[in-house]
Amino acid sequence: MDKLVSLAKRRGFVFQSSEIYGGLGSVWDYGPLGVELKKNVKDRWWRAMVHARDDIEGLDAAILMHPKVWEASGHVAGFTDPLVDCKHCKNRFRADDPRIKGTPGQPDAQCPVCGSKGTLTEPRLFNLMFKTFMGPVEDQAAVVYLRPETAQGIYVNYLNVLNSSRQRIPFGIAQIGKAFRNEITPGNFIFRTREFEQMEMQFFVKPGSDVEWFERWRAWRMEWHQALGLAPAKLRFHQHGPSELAHYAKDAFDIQYEFPFGWQEIEGVHNRTDFDLGRHQQYSGKKLEYFDQAANERYLPYIVETSAGADRVTLTLMVDAYREEQVEGETRVVLGFHPAIAPIKAGVFPLVKKDGMPELATEVYHALKRRVPVFYDDSGAIGRRYRRMDEAGTPFCVTIDGESVSGGTVTVRHRDSMNQDRVALDQLEAYLGDHLAG
Ligand code: ATP
Repeated sequence: MDKLVSLAKRRGFVFQSSEIYGGLGSVWDYGPLGVELKKNVKDRWWRAMVHARDDIEGLDAAILMHPKVWEASGHVAGFTDPLVDCKHCKNRFRADDPRIKGTPGQPDAQCPVCGSKGTLTEPRLFNLMFKTFMGPVEDQAAVVYLRPETAQGIYVNYLNVLNSSRQRIPFGIAQIGKAFRNEITPGNFIFRTREFEQMEMQFFVKPGSDVEWFERWRAWRMEWHQALGLAPAKLRFHQHGPSELAHYAKDAFDIQYEFPFGWQEIEGVHNRTDFDLGRHQQYSGKKLEYFDQAANERYLPYIVETSAGADRVTLTLMVDAYREEQVEGETRVVLGFHPAIAPIKAGVFPLVKKDGMPELATEVYHALKRRVPVFYDDSGAIGRRYRRMDEAGTPFCVTIDGESVSGGTVTVRHRDSMNQDRVALDQLEAYLGDHLAG
């Protein structure tokens, strides 16, 4: 992980937020390569979930919502972690922090940071939602929350989408957006952060068909992760046992990836029953039932949710892609991204800065740049330029040499095999197009 974090900074994938001020705890910024990588993840998700299907509509709901939404959802009362404070060093810990020795609140308990004994308080519940104020007056009546999940924006809009899109149940609503959680033990780089992006889809089904739909979505979502090129042996399902299952859920599976710090969730698939719509119906006083014309019956739909973190999937791709190889006595660092998600698709290099090569390379670069993100590099030995592209995860490098100028062909070097093909200039776009598809 340390090597990856340092590569991420050096190559412009991820920077610490407000770094020149010492950073802000577990908040990160995406640099030029990171923003492309994460955008490719989100675009791929959107294509699979919205554009490629007839039964899912897109939505972009606001981050700020009526505060009653969070009472109805259960977040005001229940989105809490039990925490303990050290009265000596003022640090705060989750009560189940494995580093704590002894029982918090008792004289034997020892603070994991300053080592003081008997200074840890009894556990107290701490709400993970960020609060702010709407309007000019900072009082209790003006409190609004930064949403801790995007799902609620979907539930409160379900009838709007249904009525405006002429969908019928079963159908889904998909959304990508920021979520905020005042996590107490964030960490592992962008794995658990306080500001992150979710890619959530809520699928509304007739009660009784929920188990069948749940199984379908579980399989489809696993296939999606596999199609990103993640190593199949590093992906698995984890079913929630009775103690893990949220109060609203009938069944839940996590899709987990084996990170260097262990198996961890990257996406959750949940059968949420009619809990959410039932609560919003109760708290808003508005009927949220669906009228099924064919069967002439009314019911509150059940919801099957698929919820993935865009940042977490981005991290997973970086972890999975990172490798070091020995090549001619040197270490070659490669991010072996699937071509479809690589931030830069091709590097374009003149072999040397003379004999018409830079002019032709510039032409090739501009022609390709109209179609896909490409990078022009004419500085340093060609081997160094290849290595720089390997580290950025760029799948192809196009080199313009003497033969390109005289014979109209270029070399295309493949990142993973390091093999080179000679390709006619007028075939280059088609050649890259074929290899980038996926
Ligand atoms: P965890 O147990 O890891 O805290 P969770 O069960 O609370 O996750 P959900 O509420 O189901 O997570 O959120 C769905 C997805 O959103 C997760 O699978 C993860 O990819 C992402 N996610 C949740 N919390 C964070 C976070 N603090 N930072 C980054 N991504 C997150």
